[in-house]
Amino acid sequence: MSKQFRVPKNPKEVMEWINSIPMYKEDQPLDLSFKSKVEIRVAQDANLIKQMERLEKFSPYYREKFKEWGLDPKSIKTIDDLEKIPVTTKEDYMKDRGESFKLDMDFNNIMEYILYEITYTTGTTSGMPTRFYNTTYDMFMQSWMFRMGCKIGYLEPTDVVMNLFPFHFIPHIGYYKTMHFAAATGMTICFGFTGAQLPGFPYNIHRPMQQAIEDIEKKNVNVFSGIGSYIRRLIMVAEEQGRDFSRVNKVQALGEAVPKGMRDDMRKRLQKMGAKEVFITNAFGFTESQTAFQECQELGGAHQGVPQMYYFEVVDEKGKRKPDGEPGLLCITHLDRRGTCLLRYLVGDIVAITDQQCPHCGRNDQRIVTTVGSTYGTRTKELLKVKGTLINPEIMRDAVANTAGVIEYQFIITKEKLDDPYSTDVIKLLVGADKGADQNKLEGELRDKVRRAVEITPKVEFVQLSEIFNPGDTLKATRIIDQRPQG
Ligand SMILES: [Zn+2]
Repeated sequence: MSKQFRVPKNPKEVMEWINSIPMYKEDQPLDLSFKSKVEIRVAQDANLIKQMERLEKFSPYYREKFKEWGLDPKSIKTIDDLEKIPVTTKEDYMKDRGESFKLDMDFNNIMEYILYEITYTTGTTSGMPTRFYNTTYDMFMQSWMFRMGCKIGYLEPTDVVMNLFPFHFIPHIGYYKTMHFAAATGMTICFGFTGAQLPGFPYNIHRPMQQAIEDIEKKNVNVFSGIGSYIRRLIMVAEEQGRDFSRVNKVQALGEAVPKGMRDDMRKRLQKMGAKEVFITNAFGFTESQTAFQECQELGGAHQGVPQMYYFEVVDEKGKRKPDGEPGLLCITHLDRRGTCLLRYLVGDIVAITDQQCPHCGRNDQRIVTTVGSTYGTRTKELLKVKGTLINPEIMRDAVANTAGVIEYQFIITKEKLDDPYSTDVIKLLVGADKGADQNKLEGELRDKVRRAVEITPKVEFVQLSEIFNPGDTLKATRIIDQRPQG
């Protein structure tokens, strides 16, 4: 049994923790995130120059674009020069399902360019997943990146992790990257192996959530890695069964925004099952980064971790940079990749970033910081027009998720009269409440909170949990449904 885990609270304690783990201690001289801002910038500029050369030579997409833009890739020598380059949008990337963003094979460097892994972005506008390629070099670089990421999130080689991502018919990066980060750090790993049946496939290969609960107990699991709302459901079922989850001390709650109230709720339930201090992190990730950027403190910001691999900008639609800490569109540039390579790519999230040194751990890499409530990003496509006003659903979600007594919830945007497309927009809020909750009081509180958040009062309805969330049916809890007639 490992010693009781305590989350380091300041740079000194972070360094003591790093020095207590031989692998991390030995990695320290090469960990760029702890170097000075100047050293980081020098490494980024050097990598950018080489990346621009690669794009000119091997990227079918950017080779053409450089000509179209009248841009000499050799004129891009520093991170600040990036602003001269037009942005790449998701639509650009999806146009030929991502194929033209994959670098050509370089037969002089076969060990770098050999195709090693394909992942997919899900939920594309066309409905067809877009490919994202990793070469040998990318996989080796990711192994280093995962070690640095695990170090930020206090994952230790002696940890036992349960992979709670589903084994789905579209390979979910969470499932595969959990395997990779556990391998890269030497952790012990077990699998829930849940997931949806492949239509027409004759064998039932998946295991139920119940088996995962039993394995967590039996196999001395202390770390969970999975989708936030799924982990919470699992914890709730285990709590009802009075399970012993006393070893659990770290939760990687990923794949969706997990605000503070939801983390506190999970922690409280784990502690009822015997757990002590539990670090619940909502690392912020997306396919095009091939990772989830880790928190060193809950809500302390999502650390880049490997600044030699990425540069983040926050920009407006035209690609003009916004000042430090101001929200805008997240724009990422790959500085050292060989497979799918993106230059000033708009991820589709509204975030804020900071270049300031992290006060919690002392790292100097860029961090994505919270702007709205207690979550990192809002998908740009999720901005909703309700009653003629553009609202940010993240604010609405945050208001409800941080309410005691709410277990699961779903917003439905609909019309006052469904057969009349011109009738007023209505927000319905379906709530699965705690058994002991005072529903009248809760209803008033929720109406008030949502009204204050988005200036629209919702109609609150209490429903059975299974009506709004069934972990067997969907990958994630669907928090907002727009039922209004489209067009
Ligand atoms: Zn930090």
